[in-house]
Amino acid sequence: MKDRTIHIIGAGPAGLVAAINLANAGYDAIVHEQHDDVGSRFNGDFQGIENWSSRKDAKLFFQEIGLQVNFLCAPHQTGHFYGPNLNGVEIKTGRPLFYLIERGVAAGSFDQGLKQQALAAGVQFLWNDKVEKMPSEVTIVGTGPKAADVIAKGIIFRTSHPDAYFGFLDDRIAPKGYAYLLVNNQKATFATCMFQDFRNSRVYYERAFKSMRRTADIEIIEPTEFGGFGNFFLPSSGHKKDRFLYVGETAGFQDALWGFGLRYALLSGYLAAQSIISDRDFDQLCRHYIWPALKTSLANRWLFAHLGNRGYQWVLNRLNKSRDAVDILQKHHQFSFSKQLLFLLAKNWYHTRLIDKQCMHEHCDCIWCRCGKSENMTETIYVQR
Ligand SMILES: Cc1cc2nc3c(=O)[nH]c(=O)nc-3n(C[C@H](O)[C@H](O)[C@H](O)COP(=O)(O)OP(=O)(O)OC[C@H]3O[C@@H](n4cnc5c(N)ncnc54)[C@H](O)[C@@H]3O)c2cc1C
Repeated sequence: MKDRTIHIIGAGPAGLVAAINLANAGYDAIVHEQHDDVGSRFNGDFQGIENWSSRKDAKLFFQEIGLQVNFLCAPHQTGHFYGPNLNGVEIKTGRPLFYLIERGVAAGSFDQGLKQQALAAGVQFLWNDKVEKMPSEVTIVGTGPKAADVIAKGIIFRTSHPDAYFGFLDDRIAPKGYAYLLVNNQKATFATCMFQDFRNSRVYYERAFKSMRRTADIEIIEPTEFGGFGNFFLPSSGHKKDRFLYVGETAGFQDALWGFGLRYALLSGYLAAQSIISDRDFDQLCRHYIWPALKTSLANRWLFAHLGNRGYQWVLNRLNKSRDAVDILQKHHQFSFSKQLLFLLAKNWYHTRLIDKQCMHEHCDCIWCRCGKSENMTETIYVQR
């Protein structure tokens, strides 16, 4: 057994999966977290572990990356979607479309579940420890998004409505994105996710709220506002100075299509741990297991952003006619020759809003910049035009 200490910065899903796997393999895993607990970036809102991008069911995926399901993980299959005219369609699936989880500090949340697994594996946590400079040992950096390429604005509330989910596609309420309502065990999350025109987020939210009220007959008790953002970019390398491994959203590992970044976060954390445990090249692992999905998601973002309101209704009608919507979504998430061509188009069209102002000098050891990550790096930076 190797006697090594590995520092992990950030107790998000990416950092925690890395820590759990390293500790289980006999490493001293030390997690530095700027807050006093896991999940502090979230507010008890529901999220979905999507189950359409891979043929592998999310629960099997958890098993393969060394996770147990000790958190709320509710399968959701049939749901209702509304296009711009609020014509509802029912979406049927042969297996769960997603597993609903709760994010935040409360017991039963995804974040608390991962923390419990990390503690059981012997991971050491340093709370209230905002790391500014890289430790001198091997370090995994999982510090989450640094800029907003997508934003979400919504509410969480209590309700007596039965468990359900609803989706909304309309550029007037969620520009180039979607709005969603998730209900589980008398709690609900409603939000709109937008990919452009962030300055008018309140207007979009208010419109989205009205659309939701016109379609779902739901009582709203004690609503609390929440919001958040996501960051996508194509990293040229997951390494910096061969000692630092970037995982999760801070590495750009996010779903460019709809912002379903959790599977990327978990997989990249697992791969970082495996690269250390079995002395394999992290970049190679990422290129094999993550890049095809990243490229496909960017190609799909290009397609989705060009659909417009008419296109959304067409997509919903097509999904409605199919016996299994997961089948159709899965086909669109497989890397193929046509996705590669679209990707080439999309990467020139889309630029992240990430402009790293905190550090612009070369070869520094701060955790923010990626300047020293790869000497000949030509990071693809994309911002939607
Ligand atoms: C509103 C919203 C809804 C979403 N819904 C979904 C969904 O339904 N499905 C899905 O798959 N994805 C969803 N996502 C995206 C998903 O939450 C992220 O992709 C995922 O959390 C990224 O995990 P991560 O570990 O990379 O980063 P994070 O979860 O951001 O964790 C990073 C951690 O690092 C800590 N940290 C940061 N800097 C430092 C520092 N210098 N020192 C110490 N600690 C530091 C932070 O406090 C944080 O705990 C959503 C995101 C938002 C905002």
